[in-house]
Amino acid sequence: MKVRGKWKKTLALLVSLAMLLGMMPDLTLTAVKAAAEENAAESTQTVTFEGIDGTSGCGYGEGYESLFDGKYTESDGTKWCCDFSDSAYVIIEASVPVWIGGYTFVTGNDNARESGRNPKTWKLYGCEAYRFEDEDNSWTEIASVTGDTTMQDKNYTSYPFSVDGNETKYQYYKFEFTANQGADVMQLSEILFDYNVCDHEWVNGETQAATCTKDGFQKKSCKNCKREITTIIPAAHRWGAIGQTKEATCTEGELQEEKCLACEETRWVSKSGGAPALGHDWEETGTEAHTCTENGKIIRTCTRCHAVDEKDDPDDPATGHDFGTDGKCTQCDAAKSDYLTPTTPKGEGTKESPYEIKTAEGRKQAEREKWSTV
Ligand SMILES: [Zn+2]
Ligand SMILES: [Zn+2]
Ligand SMILES: [Zn+2]
Ligand SMILES: [Zn+2]
Repeated sequence: MKVRGKWKKTLALLVSLAMLLGMMPDLTLTAVKAAAEENAAESTQTVTFEGIDGTSGCGYGEGYESLFDGKYTESDGTKWCCDFSDSAYVIIEASVPVWIGGYTFVTGNDNARESGRNPKTWKLYGCEAYRFEDEDNSWTEIASVTGDTTMQDKNYTSYPFSVDGNETKYQYYKFEFTANQGADVMQLSEILFDYNVCDHEWVNGETQAATCTKDGFQKKSCKNCKREITTIIPAAHRWGAIGQTKEATCTEGELQEEKCLACEETRWVSKSGGAPALGHDWEETGTEAHTCTENGKIIRTCTRCHAVDEKDDPDDPATGHDFGTDGKCTQCDAAKSDYLTPTTPKGEGTKESPYEIKTAEGRKQAEREKWSTV
């Protein structure tokens, strides 16, 4: 940054002056102190973050702007609270480009009562020069969390997350949430960034290689601000040795067995340049006649793998029911759903319902009508 550049020059000048003039060493010390203070001041330089785009809030004052307003306590809490079906996002602008080493999500005012509103799966992206959301911005993924289980249904609670291996400063950030903990609403009262404005110069530190089953890491630290970052090197087998091959089948192409060079593990993969899946060789082996409600079927069997399949026979469609006067289908005995059975009146003076009584209420009604005429 400009200020530090200036101080570095000033410091260099003072040191050389001191050496040149054989001056007291405490002048140099004073200059070093001043430069250090300046650096410290710079690293805590006030940077402001602002939500500039995102998924709209559910209600008044519940927009993404609330994520960076510094209000996230019981006595003074605002929140971003939005409808959630399958995704939500927020785009953030920092007042100057900053490096992000982590971030903290703070839950909202009523997570304890309204369970399932916390995010579960999300990604964080950085972008150097953002224009508009619908334009082709170049976002770089810098962190990813899948199926988080650390965030609880508690109010105003902070959950820090680290950003592993990020080396770059960005001015724009985007959180993209693709799952929450199950509610139809997602909310956060605040997002706090762990950031600084240093122009990092990374130097490699401790390294541990990954094995077949255990992650490794690469540590780096910045010459200027001393921040340390860790890049996870994912565990991975070293596939290479070739084993047997498997011929193509109806549903799978030719396969190649691979063996790990470092352990006993084997796997089957598509053989490169191998034969594709053959597809079934169907032969008609039977039919099934139509019913009132189902079309007739053609049954096919694969001559190679004996898989069986059935499909509708276009020449043998379902016929629909053929209801007789008794309300029953002459073909399949199904009863007509809206059919009312006529009953024979039980003689003069009664007002018995002329229809079959199907419900308890109907029976009571019929009883009342019968007795009322006696
Ligand atoms: Zn640095
Ligand atoms: Zn292995
Ligand atoms: Zn087959
Ligand atoms: Zn029928």
